[in-house]
Amino acid sequence: MTIARVTTPDQLRDAYQSVLDRIANAAAKSGRRPEDVLLVAVTKYAAPDQIRQLVDMGQMDLGESRVQQLEKRVASLSEFLSRKRTLGSASTREDIDITKAATHVRWHMIGHLQRNKAKQVINLVDLTHSVDSLRLAEELHNIGAKRDKPIDILLQVNASGETTKSGVAIPAVIHLAEQIDSMLNLRLRGLMTMAPKTDDEGLIRATFQRTYEVFKEVQKYGIAGKYFTALSMGMSDDFELAIECGANVVRVGSALFGDPEPSEADGDEVE
Ligand SMILES: *Cc1c(COP(=O)(O)O)cnc(C)c1O
Repeated sequence: MTIARVTTPDQLRDAYQSVLDRIANAAAKSGRRPEDVLLVAVTKYAAPDQIRQLVDMGQMDLGESRVQQLEKRVASLSEFLSRKRTLGSASTREDIDITKAATHVRWHMIGHLQRNKAKQVINLVDLTHSVDSLRLAEELHNIGAKRDKPIDILLQVNASGETTKSGVAIPAVIHLAEQIDSMLNLRLRGLMTMAPKTDDEGLIRATFQRTYEVFKEVQKYGIAGKYFTALSMGMSDDFELAIECGANVVRVGSALFGDPEPSEADGDEVE
């Protein structure tokens, strides 16, 4: 399914409202409130103007999957915000529950992160969704030693078993969560997963359910304590299903901005 490019401010407003409505409906279906699900607007195919418009409409959580793009986006948006003088005030706040909407812009790193780029990225984002190995966690822990606040991360789970996907296999999650929990410069905030690329809804549902189960297990054992609250799953094609299966963070790009031009889509998951 392709979604037409969103080009005018009115189209963006409509697309944004429609995504918010769909999130609210899906949340209601599972007995939750709209504000119980955090929307991360994935800006990788957005024009800079569209990011500003979205922030003006109140969307504070933004996500990028590629390091270079992230750097560009953060720089251009902070320039815009500092001209509006809305930056800086709330960043000292302790976010106990990271799944609650922020009052200031927060960037989320959602794509594969190489260890040699970790430092650059950590300085730009509030949450990294894509920690997928012990080695990356250790690297972040070392980086965290020089900061005054622990680094907030999600553990990326490969629940579909696809060999092309990053992420920790389900049986390894508990142990790795324990290891990360012992790293004092990190704060494990939850889990992230991506559904397999398939039209088979049953398969997608099973992936989300497995991730939800292991998420609950980590909570049950009290492994990462009160900070472990975020379950990031669901993208444009499957966020309603993900919410039904327990997601409280969804990462949505093309449903907001339309599908990218074919040339833009190149090399998406390889950073
Ligand atoms: C691009 C991307 C998304 C958003 O995908 P859409 O299908 O455009 O909504 C979500 N999560 C990750 C990790 C991505 O790379």
